[in-house]
Amino acid sequence: MAATSETPAAPSRRKTGRHRGEGQWAAGHFTPLNGNEQFKKDDDGLNVRTRIETVYSKAGFDAIDPSDLRGRMRWWGLYTQRKPGIDGGRTAVLAPEELDDRYFMLRVRIDGGRLTTRQLRVIGEVSEEFARGTADITDRQNIQYHWIRIEDVPEIWRRLEAVGLSTTEACGDTPRVILGSPVAGIAEDEIVDGTWAVEEIQRRIVGNPAFSNLPRKFKSAVSGSPLLDVAHEINDVAFVGVRHPEHGPGFDVWVGGGLSTNPRIGVRLGAWVPLEDVPDVHEGIVSIFRDYGYRRLRNRARLKFLVADWGPEKFRTVLEQEYLLRRLTDGPPPEQPLARWRDHVGVHRQKDGLHYVGFAPRVGRIDGTTLTKIAALAEEHGSGRVRTTAEQKMIVLDVPADRTDSLVAGLEALDLRVSPSPFRRGMMACTGIEFCKLAIVETKARGSALIDELERRLPGFDEPLTININGCPNACARIQVADIGLKGQLVLDDEGRQVEGYQVHLGGALGLEAGFGRKVRGLKVTSAELPDYVERVLRRYLEQRTDGERFAA
Ligand code: SF4
Repeated sequence: MAATSETPAAPSRRKTGRHRGEGQWAAGHFTPLNGNEQFKKDDDGLNVRTRIETVYSKAGFDAIDPSDLRGRMRWWGLYTQRKPGIDGGRTAVLAPEELDDRYFMLRVRIDGGRLTTRQLRVIGEVSEEFARGTADITDRQNIQYHWIRIEDVPEIWRRLEAVGLSTTEACGDTPRVILGSPVAGIAEDEIVDGTWAVEEIQRRIVGNPAFSNLPRKFKSAVSGSPLLDVAHEINDVAFVGVRHPEHGPGFDVWVGGGLSTNPRIGVRLGAWVPLEDVPDVHEGIVSIFRDYGYRRLRNRARLKFLVADWGPEKFRTVLEQEYLLRRLTDGPPPEQPLARWRDHVGVHRQKDGLHYVGFAPRVGRIDGTTLTKIAALAEEHGSGRVRTTAEQKMIVLDVPADRTDSLVAGLEALDLRVSPSPFRRGMMACTGIEFCKLAIVETKARGSALIDELERRLPGFDEPLTININGCPNACARIQVADIGLKGQLVLDDEGRQVEGYQVHLGGALGLEAGFGRKVRGLKVTSAELPDYVERVLRRYLEQRTDGERFAA
């Protein structure tokens, strides 16, 4: 069943009636109800690639059609970046086009976080040659460039695709990168290796016109690690490793998670799925989203709203009866992870006796030269396999025991910490005002400075702790599920002036205690006050904690 822009997919049963007003295709409602639905209907986002290659890269930025510039180019991982020098205070009064720079952010999707050193070298070379050295690791295992010129995009694609990488559907209303456990297939404690499922989902879904016009973005995750290391609770669909008492290792299915406005923790369908059935079940769920997802209002279009209205029982019934045409097996929930850190930082034994070494850059910020050096270290000490994590970290795989010290020394010399402080280890920051048009405040530099300050002020602090910093009310750095979440906004300082600052959320978490942090009523801190504020909170926690208590508000 192929859904093109001209002929939207026909779901197996058409519905009519009260849901028509939400713009659901399954209600027979194919007339676009907003500008985004209109441009998607006018032309499939995937088709913009030909225009980039044949027209825009040759004629330059000014030749780009506005609906491609602010719409379809996302289907190939391209967003215009923020014009330098435009401060947060003016954002609210500027139209989006006034914030557009002539340069782009370009996102490289790394499904499952799986990279070879050959691929990593190419990512590093592209960064140095075309992206002024930028190459941030995102919290969805991607690499993100800035300063990209439209003229260079075809050559960048040629180089990335020559080593099996792509930017296809890295952004847009599409199936985004599929998160996977970065230690799939090697971890000693693994319940089930989901690698095949990640690859098969990617092969079936990504770049497939049947799934290139979804109501909004669609985030997927697959992990058979008992550490629950892909933030499954906040994905649209997630497959989480469990052992069924009769059938053995397989996956527990979660749907409808997501942050941003109206954040929701995903819900379990109560179904156990063996590895070989994961791609079918995934395809059924993404098809439900395409056919039944709400398309009228952008802020109600994520799958979480449909799941909230239907509930898990109805969702499972529709999946079984209309898409899979069979019943799923009931199954158990995942168990509570034994470790609180889920990032795989440190030196760990693999199931084959080799070791993997996870390390922490600062708030995901890295550069092309460093990536090339990491590739060289990984080749010198391992087998040439590298991973990105969903916590803005990286891992080198397959290191013999007698080579780990040498690798650790090489990484630390690059300021890539294998034994980082809890502050460096647990801090994530989104792109922020440096490049993001939606941002109100600075994030990466602020986070990096905060790490230094906290390491200096609290050298003995040794508790697992997450501090996540967003540059605006969106949730790209997952503030709602951090111990300390900082949401960028303008605040008043002591003299009543508007300055950069943060709304504070305390006590969020992922894992089986997953929940959202409490917005501390009226608690806003200026950027200048931030180190003092965080230090005060952490000192109070150290004084008042009881045995076994994790950090919480
Ligand atoms: Fe941009 Fe806001 Fe997302 Fe940060 S949270 S990257 S500022 S949209």
